[in-house]
Amino acid sequence: MGRCATGEEIVECRLTNSRGTEAAILTLGATLRTCVVADASGEWADVVLGFDTVEEYLSGNEYFGATVGRYANRIANGRFSIGAASHQLELNAPPHAEHGGREGFHRRLWRIEDTDDRDGAALTLSLVSPDGDQGYPGRLEVRLTYRLTNDDELRLEYRATTSRLTVLNLTHHSYWTLSEAGATLDARLRIDADSYAPVNSSLIPTGAIAPVEGTPFDFRAPTPISSRIRDGSCPQLVFGRGYDHNFVLRPPSGSLRMAARLEDSRSGRVLEVLTTEPGLQLYTANFLNGGVSGKNRRLYRQGDGIALETQHFPDSPNHPQFPTTVLEPGHVWRSATTYRFSTLP
Ligand code: BGC
Repeated sequence: MGRCATGEEIVECRLTNSRGTEAAILTLGATLRTCVVADASGEWADVVLGFDTVEEYLSGNEYFGATVGRYANRIANGRFSIGAASHQLELNAPPHAEHGGREGFHRRLWRIEDTDDRDGAALTLSLVSPDGDQGYPGRLEVRLTYRLTNDDELRLEYRATTSRLTVLNLTHHSYWTLSEAGATLDARLRIDADSYAPVNSSLIPTGAIAPVEGTPFDFRAPTPISSRIRDGSCPQLVFGRGYDHNFVLRPPSGSLRMAARLEDSRSGRVLEVLTTEPGLQLYTANFLNGGVSGKNRRLYRQGDGIALETQHFPDSPNHPQFPTTVLEPGHVWRSATTYRFSTLP
């Protein structure tokens, strides 16, 4: 597809299944570049935002479809300690560190390890992140398998090991859009969470876990995202300019369970998210302002995509009460998320 600044070639791999569903993955950032699924009347469309060329991925900072690491979302003031050792990261989203740093995993060239066509098609990518990479301790070896099954599940399975004590929080950063009508936020969303993590004005969790009951964060029953997103009387929506919050998924984490369901009545497309992770960041593309021209020269604006990022909680290294993100040498870190496509009857 193109080349990195180092001159290395960037490859795009296409996974297709027996139904005709297709996912195209770039070795740059292990990025899901396109995901073409049918609607209820059998019309095909790409349901993720992104770019037509790798050059645009290299110059952009929206993380379209990217694999985000080492640490998804923010670490307050870029500082954290593990035991007696404290670490300072680059403040790439001042005054905080975000999404693994300027040269995070989304900008790395992942290596193709394996492909297979059992039950659909799969691609395994790997990355070695050296000790000290972007300020994070430990040499990290990561593997990610994308599998598109014949029953329209896009399964992501991650595995990582470290040489030194470190923190790790990987996520997938697609901006989903199930409707081509520019009405992405009219989709009805259900999130299987009874509580969420409120943030301060610079989007760092306060440390509290608040019930969703009686707030615009209550998605326990399917609700159009657009119905409460402009509620300026809710300070949390003001801070986020919309939704940019971590939902605390119902336990048990560690096993794959339902996390969210997005349903678009115009196209009839349905996206379900299952994960082993304890949290889900709902980000309604609040920072897209029409300044980015995406695929087919379409200007992307606020609310044009919905990121459903399965994760550990933002800034966990500074909140001992949150599920731990510490990875020890000798342990294998595993995580799995499935994006399941279907249509309304
Ligand atoms: C974060 C947003 C951020 C966006 C793009 C999302 O995952 O929650 O706060 O602006 O990524 O960096």
